[in-house]
Amino acid sequence: MRPPYSILVAGAGTVGLLAVLRLLASRNAAQLDVTIVDAGAAPEHVVAGETGLRVSAISAGSADLLESLGAWQRMHPTHVAAFDRMRVWDAASDPHGGATLRFDADEFGVPHLGYIVDDAALREALRAAIEAAGAGVRFDTAVADASFDDAGARVRFADGGELTADLVIAADGGGSPLRRQAGVDTWEQAYDQVAFVTHLEPTVPHGDTAWQRFLPTGPLGLLPLADGRVSVVWTTTPEAAEQAYSMSDDGLGSLLTDASDGVLGDLRASGPRGRFPLVARHARRYVRRGFALVGDAAHTVHPLAGQGANLGIADVAELTGVIDAALDHREHPGDLPVLRRYERARRSDNARMLHFMTGLNRLFASDSGPLGELRRNGMALFNRSGPIRRKMAGVALGTARRK
Ligand SMILES: Cc1cc2nc3c(=O)[nH]c(=O)nc-3n(C[C@H](O)[C@H](O)[C@H](O)COP(=O)(O)OP(=O)(O)OC[C@H]3O[C@@H](n4cnc5c(N)ncnc54)[C@H](O)[C@@H]3O)c2cc1C
Repeated sequence: MRPPYSILVAGAGTVGLLAVLRLLASRNAAQLDVTIVDAGAAPEHVVAGETGLRVSAISAGSADLLESLGAWQRMHPTHVAAFDRMRVWDAASDPHGGATLRFDADEFGVPHLGYIVDDAALREALRAAIEAAGAGVRFDTAVADASFDDAGARVRFADGGELTADLVIAADGGGSPLRRQAGVDTWEQAYDQVAFVTHLEPTVPHGDTAWQRFLPTGPLGLLPLADGRVSVVWTTTPEAAEQAYSMSDDGLGSLLTDASDGVLGDLRASGPRGRFPLVARHARRYVRRGFALVGDAAHTVHPLAGQGANLGIADVAELTGVIDAALDHREHPGDLPVLRRYERARRSDNARMLHFMTGLNRLFASDSGPLGELRRNGMALFNRSGPIRRKMAGVALGTARRK
């Protein structure tokens, strides 16, 4: 007999894959017929020891959730780098001076502040866990069109196939075609910044520390990798990112050594390069009957605090929890009152994070004398304020704490 409710998850990025895994592991999994599709081709196997261009900072809380579902432990150690310290400083200050923001795992009683993981390896681990639960991703299956009415959702795929579902979970990324098909508007603001991304070999060890220097053009992050290299996320003007992209290895190394104030000695270019235009985007609503948005499809935030994937993971934890609780009470998982519980729990939190990131980016981008001075004094004060530090650390660590 077929389970009573069908759920389609569109998008097999970290967020969509996690949604499927959570649904398959839920108390009421037997009541659910879950399908996941992705527009892209099946990815190649991730090789141990190699780190792809795209990495994510995963909070301790998110790592706990991934471990509880049997995905985290499937990643090869070369794809996971724990970091125990964070250092954030202003372009006009010394990285080792008193105005540098400092976070140490010891201070917060946790072994690590978070992890830098290879994104492709994390997705592969999630897919392996889904396969172990007896399901799989249908690749090369783009959603071409969707319509929604009281009976549920009717979805048409680019290959001509069709499917009806009681609930469609859109995890199809920032450009989310499904968001448009469901008639959901967004608030958007372009940052006029581009994130330039590559890996670098430093001459000074990264010390399991995530480094971030705020420059007037945007923040430069140096994230530790397991092989001793660092992943750089340099938010800068579109012109500077374009230049960096086509520069010689030597030129790029010295450019980023200067931009990082030599905090890790000389940096040598080592790896592929990429650039991503940045936009702050928030869906005006997350749900309608038979439809829910999660992850980047619902919100895209500035990468400066490495929270994009963590917010999507938190969305999934909430939505799947709401669905499971609804099934406990014999409610339909696609009903609007059920889905609104998810929206109420997540949308304002995500909005706060989005505006906080936008404000922080602006504050650091301004180099006017008084504002710069205020900022440096504020950072020194922040280092001495226990309650504010603990609150910020709570956000960065995620809700749960890894033992
Ligand atoms: C430069 C940069 C650095 C970042 N650094 C960090 C970081 O350190 N930490 C962090 O937490 N986050 C970071 N992020 C953000 C993070 O990468 C995203 O928030 C996260 O990957 C979003 O995952 P997702 O699954 O929602 O979307 P995506 O990863 O975009 O996945 C969407 C999936 O949907 C599929 N799809 C699209 N259209 C269709 C369709 N029509 N039908 C079917 N499938 C479709 C796509 O093929 C894709 O596989 C960064 C982002 C950028 C740009």
